[in-house]
Amino acid sequence: MKGTVHLLSRRQVLVDLGRGAIAVAVLGSAAACTGEDSPPPAGAGSPTSGTSPVPSMTEPVPEDPVTWKRAGFADVSAYVLLRGSQAVVVDTGESEDAVGEIEKALTTAGGSWDAVRHVILTHQHPDHVGGLDAVLARATRAVPAVGEADLSGVLSSRPLTPLHDGDELFGLRIIGTPGHTPGHISVHDPDTGLVVVGDAMVNLGGLSGSMPQYTADPEQAAASVRVVAKLRPRTLLFGHGDPMTRGTAKQLDQLVASL
Ligand SMILES: [Zn+2]
Repeated sequence: MKGTVHLLSRRQVLVDLGRGAIAVAVLGSAAACTGEDSPPPAGAGSPTSGTSPVPSMTEPVPEDPVTWKRAGFADVSAYVLLRGSQAVVVDTGESEDAVGEIEKALTTAGGSWDAVRHVILTHQHPDHVGGLDAVLARATRAVPAVGEADLSGVLSSRPLTPLHDGDELFGLRIIGTPGHTPGHISVHDPDTGLVVVGDAMVNLGGLSGSMPQYTADPEQAAASVRVVAKLRPRTLLFGHGDPMTRGTAKQLDQLVASL
């Protein structure tokens, strides 16, 4: 088993997530790879938790279509994506104060902290990752993940899984959308045409690209907008601004034309 694990690339590790027992051993390897960049797990599997830290790896992902709920805070939003009895949290707000809104989104959608299998961070900025440890303390079965190039910028109480363009987890596709930060990622559900774009775009008084004052590489950020537009999404979920569920492709085309 161990020999097999060593033959797998990081990408294969992620592709295999949630698809069977083999991923248990594989994930252990992936977590070890991140050990230098992340603090060791704190409290994982503690006697008080009463649950294994990563049981999500032993059960299949439900085939139910993805539904979503917004957890909106003062300035930034996180999202809960649900598939049947399982859930993913995308971004975690700027502090532990975000936990209440995320919990509300989960329960409103019929889920619970126990349902959360992954916490995906779109990027390393504090207003998106500040609530991470508070979320992980409650979502004891969740594995946190972030784009590899942003990994060193995130502090986490559990090892972070590095994500790359084209990776799949929870039946979702990771889209590399760098520019806002080097490791910025978006989360795409091809079946429903949903894309969680983090800060690759904002919807504040209309759709626009990554906010210039917070953008590491403007050229890259513009290219990432084009990448998302090519997906022809029906729904865009933003870190900043209201979700876009109508006329999305047309508004994206207009944005691309203005870049
Ligand atoms: Zn940001």
